[in-house]
Amino acid sequence: MQVFKFGGASVKSADNIKNVVSIIEKYKNSALLVVVSAIGKTTDKLARITEGFVKQNADYFGMLDSLKQEHFQILKELFPDENHPVFDDIANTFVEIEWILEDEPQDDYDYLFDQIVSIGELLSTKIIAAYAQFMGVQAKWVDARDYILTDNNYREANVDWAKTEDKIRKELPSILDDYIIVTQGYIGSTSENFTTTLGREGSDYSAAIFAASLHAENITIWKDVPGVLNADPKWFDKTELIPELSYTDAIELTYYGATVIHPKTIKPLQNKKITLNVRSFVDPEAPGTQIKTTNQMLPVPSFIFKVNQVFINIQPRDFSFIVEDNLSHIFNSFHKHRIKINMMHNSAISFSVAVDDTGENVWALLEQLEQRYKVSVATGLELITIRYYNQETIDRVLVNKEIIRELKDSYTCQMLVKNKDE
Ligand code: ASP
Repeated sequence: MQVFKFGGASVKSADNIKNVVSIIEKYKNSALLVVVSAIGKTTDKLARITEGFVKQNADYFGMLDSLKQEHFQILKELFPDENHPVFDDIANTFVEIEWILEDEPQDDYDYLFDQIVSIGELLSTKIIAAYAQFMGVQAKWVDARDYILTDNNYREANVDWAKTEDKIRKELPSILDDYIIVTQGYIGSTSENFTTTLGREGSDYSAAIFAASLHAENITIWKDVPGVLNADPKWFDKTELIPELSYTDAIELTYYGATVIHPKTIKPLQNKKITLNVRSFVDPEAPGTQIKTTNQMLPVPSFIFKVNQVFINIQPRDFSFIVEDNLSHIFNSFHKHRIKINMMHNSAISFSVAVDDTGENVWALLEQLEQRYKVSVATGLELITIRYYNQETIDRVLVNKEIIRELKDSYTCQMLVKNKDE
């Protein structure tokens, strides 16, 4: 069997959904499970609705209304008959959000976030399953929350692999004998049946969980790029497609911030030796990239650019050494504020990191650190990572840049830089 994953961009309009269903149709006689993200930027919009609701500082009902219009506009373009049952189904799914918003926002923020934001995936999959059926595909909508079982670490839930694998293996193969399964990425549920999410961009990971549990022959992530490129075309004009990539290189690239695949996706596939294809939904016949067991090194150096970085330098106030005791306190503070470290370096008397400038939580972290340490901060920086670097590639990215911190090992070079004229 195979697993396909379609992200938000691939289903952002009625035409895009038609394209996705035309790809699925080609596989209608094989065993296939399809994982789909929320339509377009729905997750961001639902996150803003949640924030407005919790802080009571925005017209969240108005925002919900325009999201509803967008979904209904797509429905109208897909289904000529407005009496098709999917119209009611989608309306009722929106009512689930309205119910939450009509109450006082008393629950924990992260819990509320998951209850509201997860509905984006329920909506998209209901529409796609209905449209696939309408086009003559034997498709069945499956609720991923019945299968992806997690703890209650809302917004970044941890999967209970044993229970999840067991449930998937017991129930899904017989459904796959008769139907193409359409299910949600990104969402799961706790043992008390509360909805959880697996962390932003987590649908790739969901697809990997289904694939690993079902021992899939392969998994395909359909993207708007031709496959894994050696740099994000947003930052680089001359990019090259990497036809074949080892699991290890893929893990390293995503760890350092390559956004093409969610970092948690690859390990479960590597464990089961399941090939991961990254292919273009715009050009579905093109071969794309295969990620698999191979000794082949990356054919070209790869570049990862992360803008909007904050550099934080931490020193004990009494100029004592940075030791285990300080480090464990510092790491705990980062963990508490949910801040991921992109680069770190320590010397005898200081510890420095680069993190994404995510706003409020970074400032809250700094406040906490300042109570115990001397902290200096620089913002507006860029983190450049080169896998399989050489001097030429370093020179290429450093034009007009000044290095603030540089870390190298045999394969990877990371440089935190700022523009020279600033
Ligand atoms: N819809 C979720 C997000 O935007 C998950 C995903 O698309 O992978 O983060």
